[in-house]
Amino acid sequence: MNQQHIVIVGGGFGGVNAAQALKNAPVQVTLIDRRNHHLFQPLLYQVATGHLSPADIASPLRRLFKRQQNVRVLLGEVTGFDVAKQKVLLQDGAVPYDTLIVAAGASYHYFGNDYWQQWAPPLKSVEDALEIRRRVLSAFEMAERAPDPETRRAWLTFVIIGGGPTGVEMAGALAEVAHKALRHEFRTINPADARIILVQSPDHILPTYDPVLSQKGAAALEQMGVTVWTQARVTAVSPTNVTLKSGDATEVVPTHTVLWAAGVKASPLGQALARATGVALDRGGRVQVQQDLSVPGYDNIFVIGDLAHTLNDDGQPLPGVAQVAIQQGKYVGQLLRHRVRGRAVRPFRYQNRGDMAQIGRQTAVVQIGSLRLIGVLAWHLWWIVHLMYLAGFQNRLIVFLQWTWSYFTHSRPALLITQRDEHQQEVPSLPLEPMVQS
Ligand SMILES: Cc1cc2nc3c(=O)[nH]c(=O)nc-3n(C[C@H](O)[C@H](O)[C@H](O)COP(=O)(O)OP(=O)(O)OC[C@H]3O[C@@H](n4cnc5c(N)ncnc54)[C@H](O)[C@@H]3O)c2cc1C
Repeated sequence: MNQQHIVIVGGGFGGVNAAQALKNAPVQVTLIDRRNHHLFQPLLYQVATGHLSPADIASPLRRLFKRQQNVRVLLGEVTGFDVAKQKVLLQDGAVPYDTLIVAAGASYHYFGNDYWQQWAPPLKSVEDALEIRRRVLSAFEMAERAPDPETRRAWLTFVIIGGGPTGVEMAGALAEVAHKALRHEFRTINPADARIILVQSPDHILPTYDPVLSQKGAAALEQMGVTVWTQARVTAVSPTNVTLKSGDATEVVPTHTVLWAAGVKASPLGQALARATGVALDRGGRVQVQQDLSVPGYDNIFVIGDLAHTLNDDGQPLPGVAQVAIQQGKYVGQLLRHRVRGRAVRPFRYQNRGDMAQIGRQTAVVQIGSLRLIGVLAWHLWWIVHLMYLAGFQNRLIVFLQWTWSYFTHSRPALLITQRDEHQQEVPSLPLEPMVQS
């Protein structure tokens, strides 16, 4: 008898966990991704700030599945679905399926201002992280060569848009680079003079956290030298400044380094699935699936992770976080295993195991059930949990050793400018200051 062919689109947290849950099941799995690696996005900000290298947080998908014989990995860009013929459409071909799991994730949302992306890059892929690292380090280099204090100040101003966990982690990590890692490395500037501004439109950062943790988190960031601007909205971004509006006041901040950590929207594959099946999408483009995560009317098509709109027990949409994608991946894998044996499965139920974000060295915020923590204990929990979920023993060991070394030395081993400026602003060519004669 021919085995059922399950196609999974996306090798992120959802797709990988679905494929792993099908280990030893009498099915054939094809996992398609446009990248050849699974990426641990929660630690991307550490690549963007030179703490870790890309290979520390990314694992080749082929290596992850080399011992799982029923999984075949394909590198390819999925463009749509032909549900009548049960085919996944690729840029350069098609793959037939009996069952389809779509786990294509999400991307950043510029709220109708997509052209801002060239001056305010997002943080979603390895390439994004390396681009941010290039911009940040280049800004310090340009400041060192700046001919006057005004120019220098603009180069030393870093604006992060979005005060959710990613923005907060970026701001804290940047403050550590400026205050600790680059100390004594420049001769004209003091990197600690850098202004790091975290902009958030609601009235507090970390909006999904307990307000007390948000307040304490903001205070911890301020102590580290980050300026937290709440109730401020970005109205314009250009190569040389960012315009912020707060109430009736407008402020133009001269800067060359703006980083985007604000809105999120679902992968365009949600729209492709809606066109193919007629399924409804929510405002963020996420697919409104049933309680077993299948598409209404199609019991052989499932959507999981950031691309799925699902509700918790209170009727609120589940957040776009790794835990949701992991649990949904495992659930659908189990559901399909049971289905092969003709058994039914209960609807998906999310178990919230807690939220955590690192603010800086020895400081994190953690909320698990009714437990609220900020400080050293939370920080220990943060790194233990992140190491546990990182894919591959080798990566866990390397990251642990790297964190231990950096903890004692304050160093950042990957402060490298490795790319050319391809699509940023024209960097003004600055006259070199004459060397100071002693
Ligand atoms: C910077 C950052 C920090 C984060 N920090 C945290 C955190 O601290 N804690 C937390 O819980 N969550 C965090 N998240 C969110 C978490 O990473 C996501 O919720 C999770 O990755 C969602 O898993 P997923 O499988 O749905 O999608 P993803 O992990 O994004 O995987 C989607 C996969 O689909 C592939 N793909 C997309 N489109 C196509 C296509 N057309 N063809 C082929 N392949 C395609 C992509 O290459 C990718 O591999 C963070 C996210 C980011 C960006």
